[in-house]
Amino acid sequence: MSAQIIDGKALAARVLDKVSEAVEELKRKHGLTPGLAVVLVGDDPASRVYVRAKGRRTTEAGMKSLEYLMPADATEDELLARVRALNENPDVHGILVQLPLPGHIDTEKVINAIAPDKDVDGFHVINAGRLMTGQKALVPCTPRGCVLLARQARDDLTGLEAVIIGRSNIVGKPLGQLLLNENCTVTIAHSRTRDLPDVARRADILVAAVGRPRMVKADWIKPGATVIDVGINRIPAEEEGKTRLVGDVDFAGAAEVAGAITPVPGGVGPMTIAMLLRNAVEAACMQNSLPLPKALADI
Ligand code: NAD
Repeated sequence: MSAQIIDGKALAARVLDKVSEAVEELKRKHGLTPGLAVVLVGDDPASRVYVRAKGRRTTEAGMKSLEYLMPADATEDELLARVRALNENPDVHGILVQLPLPGHIDTEKVINAIAPDKDVDGFHVINAGRLMTGQKALVPCTPRGCVLLARQARDDLTGLEAVIIGRSNIVGKPLGQLLLNENCTVTIAHSRTRDLPDVARRADILVAAVGRPRMVKADWIKPGATVIDVGINRIPAEEEGKTRLVGDVDFAGAAEVAGAITPVPGGVGPMTIAMLLRNAVEAACMQNSLPLPKALADI
């Protein structure tokens, strides 16, 4: 293996330290404790694990954590009423509605009911528009984490060719905009892209955000490229009855060619929660007309 392994767990721990420092400063100087509310509808086990982890990290960072567990048959109106109440609550600076929502609820309607300045996931159409037009926005957590990870391998991304495979609203599209802001030349590839391996081979920074286990092979990668693997795929493990997580990149092969690569697990995943807490601090500052604490200046 020749590639540098970009350690997302270690980087996320450093980001969380900075978040704690920022929270401490807000408390000390302004008597402000950022509060993050997470709403979960239904009892999907994976979502419960995520929500619990988010709550724990929020408290560890010195913030206030509020959790609202609603039954799987909660109506859209009930969920919208919960969101509106949180919009009005001055102790709550960030609101996250855990996705996916049950099929009878219109996800877009719920996301767009969140006050844009409390939308710590950055999924509200106003935040998407602000990001697109270069205005101050709450930016989706996973793409924000991807940029920080890429910067671990290369200080300056200016002028680099970036290829993102996947065009979702939560990863591919906002990441395209963020990399454009870093002065990359950005290509967003997708399921209808022709000659995908050839397109991928152009990349100095290659991001895979598809949801297909080990789709990106070693020969799709330009030697020395930085590879960011967003995919989280559960596949059967060698041991019978067990499963394990793999990314969208064939890690073993890719690590022989890439200059730097994120592992799965331990790459992009841990960064997502860290950036969520960072966004909650930013939201609290925005709502109180305060500048972002210095600890978070480069994050
Ligand atoms: P999505 O299903 O919304 O989008 C997938 C994208 O991949 C689509 O734009 C589609 O065009 C593209 N695609 C599908 N098949 C393709 C193919 N054969 N060739 C090229 N492109 C193809 O998914 P998403 O929500 O963006 O998530 C993508 C992956 O990232 C999933 O594995 C998801 O679990 C993971 N994810 C991880 C984190 C994290 O915190 N690490 C966060 C969000 C998503």
